Amino acid sequence: MKMKAAVLYGANEPLRIEEVTLDDPQDQEVMVRLVATGICHSDLLLMKGEVPTQYPVVAGHEGAGVVEKVGRGVSSVKPGDHVVIPAIFSCGKCRPCIQGQPTLCVETLPAHLMGGMPGGGKRLHNEKGDVNVFYSQGSFAEHAVVHESSAIKVRPDAPPDVVCMLSCRITTGVGAVARRAGVRAGESIVIFGCGAVGLGAVMGARLCGAGQIIVVDMVEERLEMARQLGAGYIVNASRDNPQQKVFEITGGGADYALECIGNAKVMMQAFGCLHSTGTLVIVGAPPAADMVSFYPFELLFGKTVKGTFLGNVWPRIDIPRLVELFMDGQLPMDRLVATGYRLEQINDAIQAVDQATVMRAVIRF
Ligand SMILES: [Zn+2]
Ligand SMILES: [Zn+2]
Repeated sequence: MKMKAAVLYGANEPLRIEEVTLDDPQDQEVMVRLVATGICHSDLLLMKGEVPTQYPVVAGHEGAGVVEKVGRGVSSVKPGDHVVIPAIFSCGKCRPCIQGQPTLCVETLPAHLMGGMPGGGKRLHNEKGDVNVFYSQGSFAEHAVVHESSAIKVRPDAPPDVVCMLSCRITTGVGAVARRAGVRAGESIVIFGCGAVGLGAVMGARLCGAGQIIVVDMVEERLEMARQLGAGYIVNASRDNPQQKVFEITGGGADYALECIGNAKVMMQAFGCLHSTGTLVIVGAPPAADMVSFYPFELLFGKTVKGTFLGNVWPRIDIPRLVELFMDGQLPMDRLVATGYRLEQINDAIQAVDQATVMRAVIRF
């Protein structure tokens, strides 16, 4: 079918809205009519050339929409179902999949880098040849063909322009706290970065019953939003030393620190905010060549460092659960006020996200 997509032809170039051709879904694949998509920081990294990719490529990996067609062998969704499209798929056969870590499926990264489906197939084309899709999704387009495991059925009354954030950022933040860190009632946590991922982590910390929830950012409005979502302590890093403040508040260091920015220097700062047996979870996606350094003796004496991808969630179980929590008012992610754009305005939306002049931008189709 013919449709419109926002195509990227090179790093730091504006997206071009073009007519492209999308093939029908093949075995185990699903065609989704996008209703809304978020714009995530990882899309900006791709557009700036900081994530390896092949051009031309359609970015976007926070899609939500309605299933239009299904390929052979698809049993978990049918045409008309409302879906959220997480930024991963899972083969169900590799070691992480078998061990219950579908977001770490070893098939995901190569397919993402190849810009196509698992197995390398491409479903999107223009008159010159194949067009790649970011995160095997490419939601900056009117339709997408995705692997069945990336089409997560959700209740039809959930607003797509809100629940699309469960494709990546909010699920990453909540999952980092609930699944990866495993925060328990009463434990303390410091969250660096109050973008959508960090604010998702704040909401996750509330859901887990965390005790002291401390947030660190340099933008007052973001800190205020974190406070409204349940952070009890805010630290403006442009005025105060975060490590000193966290030690004062917690009386000797936090149980958990989350880095939700993707900045190597901040990761080291977050590590320094822990008590001697605390855990750092690296959530933000840093530029691929960045390095961090710690004193290894701190690990010998009990600190833990781990990373997470999409919050280590079980998408088919956790995303519908998070939708339920949102609909019940326990995950108030709609408070992250969105500015709506049409596909034709996507370059304006991207600029607004990059310059942080909007809290979040959503493309409505
Ligand atoms: Zn993302
Ligand atoms: Zn797998």
